Amino acid sequence: EASFTTVESGKLIMSTNAAFPPYEMTDDSGKVIGIDPEIAGAIAEKLGLELVIEDMEFDAAQVAVQQGKSDICMAGLTVDEDRLAVMDFSDSYATGIQVIIVKEGSDVTLDNLGDQLIGTQRGTTGETYCTDDYGSDHVVPYDNGITAVQALVNGQVDCVVIDNAPAQEFVKANAGLTILDTAYTNEDYAIGFAKGNTALVEAVNGALAELTEDGTVQAILDKYIAA
Ligand code: GLN
Repeated sequence: EASFTTVESGKLIMSTNAAFPPYEMTDDSGKVIGIDPEIAGAIAEKLGLELVIEDMEFDAAQVAVQQGKSDICMAGLTVDEDRLAVMDFSDSYATGIQVIIVKEGSDVTLDNLGDQLIGTQRGTTGETYCTDDYGSDHVVPYDNGITAVQALVNGQVDCVVIDNAPAQEFVKANAGLTILDTAYTNEDYAIGFAKGNTALVEAVNGALAELTEDGTVQAILDKYIAA
């Protein structure tokens, strides 16, 4: 019998930021849907827990799990060095790519990114990596990807560096934008936990392995991401 505990007995509390389609977004009724809620739901079921989703800013979703206010953070969350210092991660369940969104006809390329004003989402790897590579003078963080893209449409930034999956959705929704063929980085997405919450990490990894083995994870990814 599993020996993990959760914040609230019988529940698996997931903190997220439902502005990252198709990993998490809200439907017309305000319900949080997407890849992460479905995978989390399948994991909760395997562990005999009820999934509870708490929607907040992306930064806050990470802090919540670090401080033991949520059990897991699922938010298209990239595993990186900075985060490994302050939280634990499950095995990876998906990969992501940071891409560059520009206005059609723009002369922005990966090679001249250092000359641009780059819009990012606050607290993301896109913000961290661009700040490390080009300096904070070149990076404008926004509360979420949608406002970053709006700033690009309005000409307040020259490009937006963001994960490919939401980038596809944002470009579809805004005429005149395009994604450069050259990617900025490749990353692994995983579930975040409080540092040292090893029992829960192991239980979730066990469930995730079964759901990967039986094809559930791939089916959920395929449902939301067009081939
Ligand atoms: N994958 C990126 C990160 O972890 C962005 C995630 C997000 O915006 N929800 O920083």
